Amino acid sequence: MKTKTVELVASPRAPHFVGDGFRVHNFIPSGFRMDMQRMDPFIMLDYNSTYKFPPSEKPKGVGVHPHRGFETVTIAYKGKVAHHDSSGGGGIINEGDVQWMTAASGVLHKEYHEKEWSKTGGDFQMVQLWVNLPAKDKMSAPKYQAIKNSEIQRYALENNSGFIEVIAGDYNGIKGAASTFTPIHMLNAQLNKGGTAAFNFPSDYNTVVLVLEGNIVINDNDEAPTDHLALMANDGEAFQIKAIDDALVLVLSGAPINEPIAAHGPFVMNTHQELQEAFDDFNNGKFGYLED
Ligand code: MN
Repeated sequence: MKTKTVELVASPRAPHFVGDGFRVHNFIPSGFRMDMQRMDPFIMLDYNSTYKFPPSEKPKGVGVHPHRGFETVTIAYKGKVAHHDSSGGGGIINEGDVQWMTAASGVLHKEYHEKEWSKTGGDFQMVQLWVNLPAKDKMSAPKYQAIKNSEIQRYALENNSGFIEVIAGDYNGIKGAASTFTPIHMLNAQLNKGGTAAFNFPSDYNTVVLVLEGNIVINDNDEAPTDHLALMANDGEAFQIKAIDDALVLVLSGAPINEPIAAHGPFVMNTHQELQEAFDDFNNGKFGYLED
């Protein structure tokens, strides 16, 4: 087995607001080595680093908007997110929960800070990831996987190193809570100071490591501080993370879909024509209706 080396450690870019409720650093897609094709099947990654929102009677967030052709995955680390969609669905993503929404043929939805949480405010930390769908599944029916933290299995690491939460894929035989269309591993590594965790993914899987808390060293060689993202090279399978202090790390690894990508705003399709159809369908009300 060859070592998978670090290709790049990216610092967080200047934050911007999505609506008025999500203060994010965008890591994917970035023209600097992390565009959609390079990161396939991970086509967007916005990271809301820990940010204190003041109390607000009116929940902050982002209003009604469409998605088609992919999945949105929301991981709430601190704070709570409420969502509603055009099929009448809705729910609350609590701390530690994961919402895996398959937009596929199309949904309208809105995402806000949960009402009661909003009234007190506090630290908010979240990841939103877009996972591409293969052409054959882009127009399938939308669905949700609302995954409670208690449903996510954990693997206890040796030597009091901490544990791995398996959101999707698997880790040392522990299966992920989420079902995926293409092979994806999505893991939260909660590491104690000095703890280590080993990972092993096929070399062609595109792989990133996002540091949410603490500081880590990868392969005893590359330091990745808090709020930084390490892009792993496609040169081997195995790598190791060591926590310099107590650390929380999101590890993503996915098989590339290797299909053409045509993306504009909230639509990610394979061809320009399909993008045009998405805009036409949206403008003609085919995504349904949702009150703002
Ligand atoms: Mn959305």
